[in-house]
Amino acid sequence: MANTIKKIAVIGTGVLGTQIAALTASFDYEVSVYDTSEVSFQKGIENIRTLSSAAKRKPTVTIQDWERGISRIQFCDQLKEALKDTDLIIEAVPEDLELKRKVHKQLDSMAPAHALLATNSSSIPISKIESATRRPEKCMNIHFYIPAMGLNMVDIMGGTYTSAEVMGAAKSWVQSINCVPLEVRKEILGFCFNRVWRAIKRETLYMWAEGFVDFRDIDRGWMVFTGMPLGPFGLMDNVGLDVVYNIEMVYYNESKDPKDHPPEKLKAMIDNNELGVKTGKGFNN
Ligand code: NAD
Repeated sequence: MANTIKKIAVIGTGVLGTQIAALTASFDYEVSVYDTSEVSFQKGIENIRTLSSAAKRKPTVTIQDWERGISRIQFCDQLKEALKDTDLIIEAVPEDLELKRKVHKQLDSMAPAHALLATNSSSIPISKIESATRRPEKCMNIHFYIPAMGLNMVDIMGGTYTSAEVMGAAKSWVQSINCVPLEVRKEILGFCFNRVWRAIKRETLYMWAEGFVDFRDIDRGWMVFTGMPLGPFGLMDNVGLDVVYNIEMVYYNESKDPKDHPPEKLKAMIDNNELGVKTGKGFNN
């Protein structure tokens, strides 16, 4: 089935959808996109250009490849047109379960019968969306990390009925766009790597908030150990402390375990507009 994925449609061209479309097109796949907002695709493209020029990691996709990919994307005014002849559809509309179910229902009714349907959702498992379609065996989560430039990791998680063949096709496709597939074998919030990163955030925030260690020493230790240019607090500053807090709350709301609740000290920083790089003040100024 892998060889049959030739045309991809991306639905929702915000931050992630545009990056997924451009990355896929730069690997010579035929890509069509659709969004209810006319301006979002252009804004997404501008965002990619800024990211490409500011990339800290050497991108494995060159700026020329990005531009070639971008120029090949077909923007469609009508959803039906975007779905024509597609083999794989990636939905990247906002994180709202009802909206995603509504969009999947539309996709199912308009897309070719053989097409695979994937959601890029960060926190909604496909098992909550699949029943909006008549092809649950072809539905799955394909979750890209930001920025989706060059070598990246991509979580793949099936739903209640996803077939092994569909999972295999998704895995091969992810490899074909030079990304590393991380297969989740049993449904779990946060997929694969989000949970690893989240365990580090939870522990390091706890150590800092309770005054056990200066956060700078945690970052220093991390940088020596991993060889990375930033430690967990530097990374959190880049992500945005409000985003970090909200994600921690998603895990807390699922478990209701007090140990999962983000520290009040982090909330105080957010209330003080210390959101990290985007406000110029966070852990590192
Ligand atoms: P975004 O708000 O930047 O983009 C969403 C786009 O969907 C917008 O352009 C909007 O106009 C469009 N849209 C809304 N309703 C639509 C509809 N009915 N049909 C077609 N398009 C519609 O959001 P984003 O940050 O790109 O996130 C999209 C998805 O990707 C979410 O599920 C999110 O959880 C996931 N995700 C986001 C990130 C991230 O860091 N931003 C990372 C990984 C996964």
